[in-house]
Amino acid sequence: MPPAEKPIARVAVPSPLYRLFDYRVPVHIDAATLQPGVRVLVPFGRQRVVGVVTGRVAETDVAADKLKTILEILDEQPVFDAHLFALVEWTAEYYHHPIGDAFATALPVLLRKPVANKRSVQQYWSLTAAGRRLDPNDLVRAPRQAAIIAQLRHHAEGVPRQDLGVSLKVLNTLRDKGWISERLTAEPVQPITVKSPEQKLRLNADQQQAIDTITASLDCFNACLLEGVTGSGKTEVYLQLIETVIAQQRQVLVLVPEIGLTPQLVSRFEKRLAAPLAILHSGLSDRQRLDNWQRAQSGEARVVIGTRSAVFTPLTDAGLIIVDEEHDISLKQQEGFRYSARDLAVWRAHKLNIPIILGSATPSLDSLHNVARQRYRLLHLPERAGRASMPKLHLLDIRHQPMQDMLSEPLLKQMQSHLDRGGQVLVFLNRRGYAPVLLCHDCGWHADCNRCDARMTYHQKHRQLRCHHCGQQRPVTPHCPDCGSGELIAIGQGTERMEQTLSVRFPEHTVLRIDRDTTRRKGSLQTALQDATSGRAQILVGTQILAKGHHFPAVTLVAIVDADQGLFGADFRSSERMAQLIVQVAGRAGRGEQAGEVIIQTHQPDHPLLRQLVEQDYQAFTKMALQERSDAQLPPYSHLALLRAEATQADAPMAFLEQAQQWAADLQTGIQLWGPLPAPMERRAGRYRAQLMLQSSQRRELHQLLNELIPQFESSKLARKVRWSIDVDPQDML
Ligand code: ADP
Ligand code: ZN
Ligand code: ZN
Repeated sequence: MPPAEKPIARVAVPSPLYRLFDYRVPVHIDAATLQPGVRVLVPFGRQRVVGVVTGRVAETDVAADKLKTILEILDEQPVFDAHLFALVEWTAEYYHHPIGDAFATALPVLLRKPVANKRSVQQYWSLTAAGRRLDPNDLVRAPRQAAIIAQLRHHAEGVPRQDLGVSLKVLNTLRDKGWISERLTAEPVQPITVKSPEQKLRLNADQQQAIDTITASLDCFNACLLEGVTGSGKTEVYLQLIETVIAQQRQVLVLVPEIGLTPQLVSRFEKRLAAPLAILHSGLSDRQRLDNWQRAQSGEARVVIGTRSAVFTPLTDAGLIIVDEEHDISLKQQEGFRYSARDLAVWRAHKLNIPIILGSATPSLDSLHNVARQRYRLLHLPERAGRASMPKLHLLDIRHQPMQDMLSEPLLKQMQSHLDRGGQVLVFLNRRGYAPVLLCHDCGWHADCNRCDARMTYHQKHRQLRCHHCGQQRPVTPHCPDCGSGELIAIGQGTERMEQTLSVRFPEHTVLRIDRDTTRRKGSLQTALQDATSGRAQILVGTQILAKGHHFPAVTLVAIVDADQGLFGADFRSSERMAQLIVQVAGRAGRGEQAGEVIIQTHQPDHPLLRQLVEQDYQAFTKMALQERSDAQLPPYSHLALLRAEATQADAPMAFLEQAQQWAADLQTGIQLWGPLPAPMERRAGRYRAQLMLQSSQRRELHQLLNELIPQFESSKLARKVRWSIDVDPQDML
């Protein structure tokens, strides 16, 4: 049938419905121009929404008088090329997510609106000749103007208007004086070539071998797990491979976990690579994000570095994909469109027939299992690069030890001795705030969140109670709300309190706390990391933000204050996460010239996980952990999907899930059904939550069951009383 005879467009419309919608193509439009992946503006209910054309059909089930017409065609060229289009379709199918929402979520926020996919024109400001001749002393009484002039002095190519952070009025004043001028352009700010990129390092034998193996087969699909101990020079391996690939005029996509995308990492890439980069992360404005996305789509950006959602970035000529810290849980989207960016990256590499590198010092059990099944090739960097050596780990049995705010006497002594020798000390405590519990000494009242089954954390500096699960906060009153007593006591240690304790105990040293509370302001993480790296602060205290990838060359002692905290998790993955966390934090020690040591305080010195990490290594742990998973038939030896439901009404989630369980049981598949059960934290942010787990040794069976259940859910009355969602390969059971 010639294309013109298929006048009806099938459109993926953002909605919670698992289906496509048909629309009439307006008469003045040649239907053949409506290729899959083109965005259209369509009427939907009483709204107008942006949908994505998925195809055209000759006929539809929709009655002629009900069939609506496309309002506007937004793209000349599809925003989703054939490869990306297939990626989104596959993702929606695999993760059982509504297709329209999947397409919308894969787009930058601005393209979910009816705007053209064109590079925006920007206003750049730069100094005129007169402006360059200005004497800074002439402007002492106009500091804001002086700051602008100073800023522009460093950027001969100009600075985009929004980066100047002043009102147009100030800029116009300076222009009227003839000192600065503006120009409009869609050109990139970043120079296309870096004048003198930093030298590459001379590779050691293991690095060289990893690179040789990958470069030997750059033109076909190849999944490599690069397991390199902390500080083994994985980043150097990435950089040299990227140089090879961009020299072949191909693009590289690099995915990193949320917190891994630090200014340090970006500047390391910028200094080394003589090619334009595009950075994609959640800290950018929608406009900046779209600009960078478009630079990737046009091929102008040769290297794209981004967090999770960057896996949906269009590329013109991809040659290599890298997923750094592949074990990191932040690569999995945990809400809404739940997908694993790592697994999608492997899918892309496979379809594009290019290599992919998954790098980590602590690979996930999933990836190690893929190595064992010979799906991934293992590349190993067993030693630290340069002159650094691996730190020594010690367990410190703190039973019966006198403690000062969770710090034992032997630990304090060690800290003192490292500080005396000019070393830096990193104190790791994975709990922010001052104290996790605020208690009334007279009546036992404790501060609970009224929206969650959880205690509120006491934050002393702001005199606030904050719930770390729903974000709710309220001021602390000086008296107990139940009995009026003035004796409220803070129980337990958070990083804020630890910072205070350390400042008192080591008054001659600077203590720097790095956690989500101290790094909220834009640029504050950068400053903190600089102070940590430069050694300006001798004692670093923080949460897992400190654990990830950073290179603090002067740290010689890492203290893990409370290892017991993670040993008794409810989730079958908790031991894997705990092992990864300990090894990653420990890996911050001894990365420079001085050797490092790690002290792990515990009340469980015989715990097998701790013993294994201290006496052997991460690999020994993973061997045992994989055996346990195999014995219990848990992932990666079986497949899971979690059906979740939540509602403000207490019984609604269980009622719906019981019905779902019944339907699933009636289908008599070989799939095991666990639950339904209330979630480990049943109430969160005012909603009751429950879950039903589906487990199968056959992935296909699991998908078939879900495909049969979803239409039933869509017409279930009980389902309408809850928010339900499906999580395939769930990473977090809470
Ligand atoms: P990883 O990413 O594996 O943790 P990095 O790539 O950050 O390790 O490297 C750790 C340190 O070792 C960095 O300071 C880096 O400059 C240095 N390094 C890496 N490779 C080499 C090498 N071949 N020779 C000397 N130093 C190296
Ligand atoms: Zn009280
Ligand atoms: Zn709460």
